[in-house]
Amino acid sequence: MIASSGANKLFVKRDDLYPLSFGGNKARKGRLFFEEILKSGCDCVVSYGSSSSNHCRVVANLCAMHGLSCLIISPEETMKDTFNKKMIKLMGAEYIYCPVTEVAATIERTMQQLRDGGRRPYFIQGGGHGNTGTQAYVECYDEIYRYEQSSGIHFDYIFFASGTGTTHAGLICGRKKYNVTDQQIIGISIARPNPRGRQVVIDSVNDYLGESYADHENVCFLDDYISGGYGSVQEGIYAVIKRELVQNGLPLDATYTGKAFYGMEQYLLKNNIAGKNVLFIHTGGTPLFFDDLEHIK
Ligand SMILES: *Cc1c(COP(=O)(O)O)cnc(C)c1O
Repeated sequence: MIASSGANKLFVKRDDLYPLSFGGNKARKGRLFFEEILKSGCDCVVSYGSSSSNHCRVVANLCAMHGLSCLIISPEETMKDTFNKKMIKLMGAEYIYCPVTEVAATIERTMQQLRDGGRRPYFIQGGGHGNTGTQAYVECYDEIYRYEQSSGIHFDYIFFASGTGTTHAGLICGRKKYNVTDQQIIGISIARPNPRGRQVVIDSVNDYLGESYADHENVCFLDDYISGGYGSVQEGIYAVIKRELVQNGLPLDATYTGKAFYGMEQYLLKNNIAGKNVLFIHTGGTPLFFDDLEHIK
């Protein structure tokens, strides 16, 4: 628990401290993806993401650790020089830039060129999307559930930053696995509006379960705090980031965790929620905190 101030008890699961490549949900997913990749006999990995992508950093790091080559396809609209990008280059990954509208075609072409050259490429969807990514967050839910059992604390609400949907889907599948019915899992969208954002989460749940999730009414994907979309910073967010760092030693960033933390606070206030146990899952992105540092006054 980090704070009993405010109307609720707030707990934070520090997935940002997951012990691999600066942690976060992409490290948790990446570990599982590489178990598959190493078994598959593939010799290079292709993935995509913006220059802020934590997923691409983790993939590049795991490739370097296992001696695989790594190609990152990235939209030229987001060519900012970030700490993630600097690390990706340091790890020896190769960037291929293209306009955002040509990402799909560029992936296709790159995969074909590699195969034609006698390579065996493995493709990971952006953000570590897919059942493997979902499985990583079923395992995270296992940890949360075990903590609840051993501590006697039940979380009424779980909040986190939701992007491509598998972190969210995994938590929902975990809740279903243990038949938990008195807990709200609320993903704060960092980019996608509804109805698409929510539908992608439901699709991921269905895909993982291999059947249609009966309780899809209960999938809560909030798009109220996306501001102008991915990377767009709402007013007041740097104040929240500064306060959490200074008062609680909690580093947040403006693209993912800060946006979600801000959204969580607004949501709890707006809905007059009080006296509850609230869990915030810190999904990582520590290098982005440093990118943002100059904006925090
Ligand atoms: C990618 C990312 C998310 C979103 O996770 P999804 O599984 O894509 O929804 C949240 N927080 C951070 C720090 C991320 O890097």
